Amino acid sequence: MGADNTQYDVLIVGGGAAGLMAAGRAAGAGARTLVLEKKDRTGRKLNITGKGRCNLTNAALMESFLERFGSGARFLRPAFGHMGDKDLVAFMEGLGVPTVVERGSRVFPASQKAGDVVAAMRDFARTSGARIETDAPVRRIRAEEGAVTGVELKSGEIRSAGAVILATGGASYPATGSTGDGYAMARELGHAINTIHPALVPLETGGEAAPKLQGLSLYNAGVSVFINGRKKRRAFGELLFTHFGVSGPVILSLSGEIVAAQLQGHEVELRLDLKPALEETKLENRLLRELDQRGGQHMGNLLRGLLPRKLVAVCLEQTGIPEDRTGNQVSARERKALRTWLKDFRIPVTGYRSFFEAIVTSGGVRLKEVDPKSMGSRLVQGFYFAGEVLDIAADTGGYNLQAAFSTGSLAGTSAAQYALARHSETAAQSP
Ligand SMILES: Cc1cc2nc3c(=O)[nH]c(=O)nc-3n(C[C@H](O)[C@H](O)[C@H](O)COP(=O)(O)OP(=O)(O)OC[C@H]3O[C@@H](n4cnc5c(N)ncnc54)[C@H](O)[C@@H]3O)c2cc1C
Repeated sequence: MGADNTQYDVLIVGGGAAGLMAAGRAAGAGARTLVLEKKDRTGRKLNITGKGRCNLTNAALMESFLERFGSGARFLRPAFGHMGDKDLVAFMEGLGVPTVVERGSRVFPASQKAGDVVAAMRDFARTSGARIETDAPVRRIRAEEGAVTGVELKSGEIRSAGAVILATGGASYPATGSTGDGYAMARELGHAINTIHPALVPLETGGEAAPKLQGLSLYNAGVSVFINGRKKRRAFGELLFTHFGVSGPVILSLSGEIVAAQLQGHEVELRLDLKPALEETKLENRLLRELDQRGGQHMGNLLRGLLPRKLVAVCLEQTGIPEDRTGNQVSARERKALRTWLKDFRIPVTGYRSFFEAIVTSGGVRLKEVDPKSMGSRLVQGFYFAGEVLDIAADTGGYNLQAAFSTGSLAGTSAAQYALARHSETAAQSP
């Protein structure tokens, strides 16, 4: 990395989804733009999104789209107005990345390759005229008299510009480069940071069930969340048992509320419905039929017709039914215990996994201090934000990347406008 004395208009800290989009927009608007990326490559996290397939947005209607962001929805409305899901899809098509809509209105590149999105975003930034400097970690943002003047790299070098966009992402999956550096940089310039937590994160559970069941996936489990003994939410979907607890799409989606409850010291319990398609009477009839038709079999065998093998042992243990009891020996009380367990398998939640395993970070730069129409700081002139560094986080389904792209696009456009206007003012004033 050599000294670079160029006078830039816009500096972008972080070359992820938001930073690359911001770079292309700012450079495309005529601003001399530089992206400073701390890793050896831009877009490392983008490259692993959607299990390598990149679920880049969601085709849901705007109102239900916004709902996924909870309290961040109002803030994001102008950014989504500036660049919504259809705009993003058209934009990707324009870059040679056609898309397909899959189950749950999730949008993926037709090639099913996140790498194609990364390559397209890098090309977009570069062909728009932005420079990208890798292995260039930024230490702080410099400001004088209430306006940014540039950044200081960890190497001590300075890069100057009239506008700086902070696009350092969250603190999850730190190996991708998103180590939460941006929070300290924003704080140093007076911005409040709402406490950060892992979100869309696997859960740790108590008891022996999870370790015994590790590796087992339930493709359609009903999961109810009980907080201090009261039912708060119910969802359906795929659940995976791990050595520490539970993961999988349904758990990640429920994790936000569970982490929040745990932080407040509340007790959380998951109650699994292993037969969500059968209501109680139908389940009772099914059990009666199985016990009758296969009455000579030991329960250890008989239950394999109803449950995956790993679950059978846990079921017998928790219902107290001996493994060698035959179907026709099962009492009405035991049958009831079995029925109850199948609909209400309880697992206490003891914690959640760290940022290393969290898909996103909740918390971040307080939204009140950012203008939603420009992504500009309300405290420091020429300072802009984009992406997950802001206090925004949504469910899985492509919402988080759309938020990164939309806020990146808006921040890039606004920062370029600001810096170019300032530039021409200065030029007009100079003799
Ligand atoms: C495994 C996984 C799968 C995911 N799948 C999906 C999905 O399919 N769909 C979806 O919508 N969302 C998904 N997400 C979430 C999504 O990836 C993020 O919300 C999104 O990448 C945020 O974009 P960003 O540009 O704000 O931050 P990032 O993509 O995290 O980019 C931030 C960049 O800033 C750089 N940086 C950090 N600090 C510095 C510094 N000091 N100096 C210079 N550069 C710095 C980092 O190296 C990084 O390149 C997934 C996340 C993970 C972890």
